Amino acid sequence: MADHKKQALRVDITRALSTVRARAKAERESRVAGASRTLSVDELAGDYDFARLLVTTLDGKSRPITQKDLDVFRRNAAALGRKFKGGITARQVIDTTIPAIRARSNAQIHTAAPIKLVGSDLQVVTNAGPDSGHSRHFVTFGLLNMPAAVASPKRPIDMARFVSGGPITLECDCEDFRFRLRYIATIGKFVHGRPEPAYPRFTNPRLVYACGCKHVLRACHNLDSGLFRGFIATAIDRQRKTLNERTAVIASKRDTREHDDRAARSAKVIRTTEERIVNAAKRGGKVVAAVTAAAEKLAKKQAAKAKRSAAGALKATEQTMQKLLAQRAITPEAYAQVMKALKSSEVKG
Ligand SMILES: [Zn+2]
Repeated sequence: MADHKKQALRVDITRALSTVRARAKAERESRVAGASRTLSVDELAGDYDFARLLVTTLDGKSRPITQKDLDVFRRNAAALGRKFKGGITARQVIDTTIPAIRARSNAQIHTAAPIKLVGSDLQVVTNAGPDSGHSRHFVTFGLLNMPAAVASPKRPIDMARFVSGGPITLECDCEDFRFRLRYIATIGKFVHGRPEPAYPRFTNPRLVYACGCKHVLRACHNLDSGLFRGFIATAIDRQRKTLNERTAVIASKRDTREHDDRAARSAKVIRTTEERIVNAAKRGGKVVAAVTAAAEKLAKKQAAKAKRSAAGALKATEQTMQKLLAQRAITPEAYAQVMKALKSSEVKG
């Protein structure tokens, strides 16, 4: 692995912000110069079939996403009308992104820290991967719940969770996002900044379905951290006190440095919700035994009290276990094990 990952991210905030502006300008200019790299919507109506290059893994397996998929998506969005407000949650971004991009983010992108929050726009700095010509990248989130959080009478720190877990729009200044993902984010109505109405004409057949690049993934993962929530809470507080939603909060150097240290110690692996459940279940071997023992004890106690029959107690326990199963607090295997143990103990008792 390259040394870059070991290096702490030292950010000069002023320089970082001027870099953001310079890159945005360069992006606008290259867009004009590189207009021939994208297909217009009109061209797509013809025989062009670049849609095949898009691959989706929404169902866990890679499959080509067709123009028909996108048409269906657009029709559904139109049918929903105003109900389709757009935005996506950080968790959804992680859950719908293919394993390859997550693996790249886990291996190469180690830091993501907030640098500026003005209005609902949160600027985030991340380190860059080994193949990048840049040393860092900038992700911008539009925090759609921010105005509601500022208007709420609840404590800023409590509302920060509502903001970080709520719908967001997003963009990144890397090539992956600019050339591949901005179009998808536009169709999905979760793009931040400039919408991209033209289909990406890209010769790379590995064009994959994802909601975010590796930088966006790391930023989404960290959005749920104490550092980000504290930053958002400060902004909520500041906007309330100044009665001005454009009041900016800018990170101190200390903020990003502290984050490096803390991030180095904390769990950093980006996992989908599904993987989290599987991991919890794997760790839960002991828990199953403990739950079984407790449930058996309870069933016997209730039966002994003779207020309810053993069968009634079993039934009540079964209902509790079913509730846990429905909430995915336990796996179907754990449920089966516990029920088997309970039924055999009932026969014995
Ligand atoms: Zn990126």
